[in-house]
Amino acid sequence: MQPRRPRIPPLPLRPDIAGSFESRIQLAHQHFSRGEFVRAGFLFEELATAAARRGGPRAPLFFLQASRAFFHAREAEKAMQLARSAYNAWQARPAGSPAAGLLRLADEADRLGYAQQAQALRSWLADFPDRADSPASNPAAGGAKPRLPLQCPACGGPVYPDEVEWLDDKTARCDFCGNPLRADGDR
Ligand SMILES: [Zn+2]
Repeated sequence: MQPRRPRIPPLPLRPDIAGSFESRIQLAHQHFSRGEFVRAGFLFEELATAAARRGGPRAPLFFLQASRAFFHAREAEKAMQLARSAYNAWQARPAGSPAAGLLRLADEADRLGYAQQAQALRSWLADFPDRADSPASNPAAGGAKPRLPLQCPACGGPVYPDEVEWLDDKTARCDFCGNPLRADGDR
C-alpha cells in the first residue's frame, strides 16, 4: 500500500492541531508574564521550530519571542542564537519586514543591559535593504489610530499596534494566534 503523505495545510484548516498549538502559545505567554522566562523561551522555540518546518509565516515572530525570553532569563548567548534563527526565517520568507521586530528586540536587549548584542541586532537590518515597512493597508498610518488592546484576549500575547495586520479599519489580527483584535474607541 502506498503510504499516504498528507499535505499539511496551514493552521486554520486544522482545528485539532490549531487548538493544541494555540494552547501552547497561550501557555508560553503565561510563562513569560509570570517571569518564567526559560520555560517561555523553550516553549516559544518549540513553536517557532514547528512553524518554520511548515514554512509558516509566524516562525520569525516565535523565534523573536523566544529570544526575548532568554534575554530576560540572562541567557544572552541563547537569545542571540534564537534571534539569528528569526533572521534566517525572515531570509527564507520574502514577505514582511523584520525591521520593527528586530528593533523592538534590540531596544529590549539594551534595556536589559546587553548593549553589544543590541547593536549587533540593529546591524542585521542592513541585510534587508529593500524591505521597507509597507503600512499601506494599515489604517493607523493615516489619521487617528484605532486603539487595540495591549494583550490579545485569546492568547495573552502582547499586541504591537504598528506591526499587526489590519483586517479592516477596526479589526486587526493577533500576530501570534491569528484571532481578531477589536479596536475599542472608548478606552
Ligand atoms: Zn493572540
